Amino acid sequence: MPIDATQPYDDSNIFAKILRGEIPSNKVYEDEHVLAFHDINPLAPTHILVIPKGPYVSWDDFSAKASDEEIAAFVRAVGRIARQAGLIGEGYRVLANVGMNSGQEVPHLHAHIFAGRPLGPMLAR
Ligand code: 5GP
Repeated sequence: MPIDATQPYDDSNIFAKILRGEIPSNKVYEDEHVLAFHDINPLAPTHILVIPKGPYVSWDDFSAKASDEEIAAFVRAVGRIARQAGLIGEGYRVLANVGMNSGQEVPHLHAHIFAGRPLGPMLAR
């Protein structure tokens, strides 16, 4: 079920549990503000999720409330993770779903990094 991105942050969500170490994840990157791990149900040969450590429901919440330091760390981490994974030559896609029409399912901001094959059109027609 897609989430309502205007809801308050709910720290029982699955990514909050991963951040607290209550659920395992296949980690690819971590710094003071950011964690990244492989998606449990990959939609491409490379499918990495990048999340801020702070409690933000969505891109909307994050862009409105996060500090400049958190935002810079998040944007730089996405780039760094893709570079470290060797994705620049072949290319990759960064995607963040926000709320109902996007199909966002986990109410903690996450950027998807997709790569490893031609990814097709941005959206199905
Ligand atoms: P959304 O649809 O919210 O943009 O994407 C949520 C993503 O989280 C999906 O691609 C889904 O496979 C992934 N996911 C859901 N639960 C887990 C989990 O427990 N561990 C990991 N690594 N990924 C998860």
